[in-house]
Amino acid sequence: MDITLNRRNFLKNSLFYGVSLVAASPASGHLASAKHLMEPKAMFYKKGDQNLVYCELCFRRCTIPEGRRGFCRVRENQKGELRSLVYAQPAGLQIDPIELEPMYHMVPGHKNLCVYTASCNFRCKHCQNWTISQSAPEQIRSFKSTPEEIVKETLKQGCRSISHSINEPTVFFELMYDVVRIAKKKGLLTLCHTNGGMAKEPMMELLKFLDGVTVDLKSFNPKFYRDISEAKIEPVLETLKTIRQSGKHLEIVNLIIPTLNDDMSDIRKMCRWIIENLGQETPIHFTRFSPQYKMTHLPHTPIRTLEQAYETAKAEGLKYIYVGNVIGHPANSTYCSKCNKKLIERSHFIMLKNAIKDGRCPFCNEKIPGIWS
Ligand code: SF4
Repeated sequence: MDITLNRRNFLKNSLFYGVSLVAASPASGHLASAKHLMEPKAMFYKKGDQNLVYCELCFRRCTIPEGRRGFCRVRENQKGELRSLVYAQPAGLQIDPIELEPMYHMVPGHKNLCVYTASCNFRCKHCQNWTISQSAPEQIRSFKSTPEEIVKETLKQGCRSISHSINEPTVFFELMYDVVRIAKKKGLLTLCHTNGGMAKEPMMELLKFLDGVTVDLKSFNPKFYRDISEAKIEPVLETLKTIRQSGKHLEIVNLIIPTLNDDMSDIRKMCRWIIENLGQETPIHFTRFSPQYKMTHLPHTPIRTLEQAYETAKAEGLKYIYVGNVIGHPANSTYCSKCNKKLIERSHFIMLKNAIKDGRCPFCNEKIPGIWS
């Protein structure tokens, strides 16, 4: 049977994970108040004449007049000061296996607490979490929780790491930044899953406190970024290089959508770019699309297409390649790049066995990239 699971379906089907401590739901009746209790000054912006502000957090570089918000809808110019409307206002905290990020080379099988808020700085027509990412803060429920409280809850729940994903964490930078700084002091692993649109300076500041990053490389075709996501590919490629230069662990996700980004010559070019700029050992996940949001007219990605992408990446020389959102596929698992023995057995996002010893293959002693203890 051909079964596809995205994050939300996975939550419904899991017995042990997918615990939403608080989950986002649409605000009903009247919209929740736009005025939050805590609206601290945003980071990374400049002031201009006539109370204009220039946001420098992401590639969009919004110029925001007084009383207005940026493209992401969560950063507002209040009397000439840029303020975050989602600081200490997560829409949800959710416990998942770390593999669900996806992050396969970071202490496999541990519990991770994921933080998310409303909104995004992209407008992907295929977004799998669109009810959250395409909402303004007033349109979904949120709750008050300070960074200290979020870290405390992470420890209380026995989670080993804390991640920022589901919506784009760039848009809640200030909350994420404070969470990861506190989390590192408490010995937690820290990560985020991003679309890669954050500007270089904030990304470098954030990386000081991150252990790993998962980046969506949605396509290697600028047209896809422009037409499907209302975004640009160039800042994403720059972000990938910045992360690689930082030495922090990096994994890449490429969601393959039938007819939109399933051209194998583009996937080949993407793999070559990754090898040249990020290295052969960068794990890549080719994940299966399921019809969502404005793309319900398209079918699920054929498994054969994902396998062709896998074979293309392998032929180009990438060493750690995965097929995602397909339960029980052999490429859910990790194989040694030298002796090809199975090292970590997974079914979908569940780790079943881990043979890696001290970060090395126990059969041929090959060093496996990642964080293993
Ligand atoms: S973070 Fe938001 S306000 Fe700032 S540049 Fe990006 S889209 Fe504009």
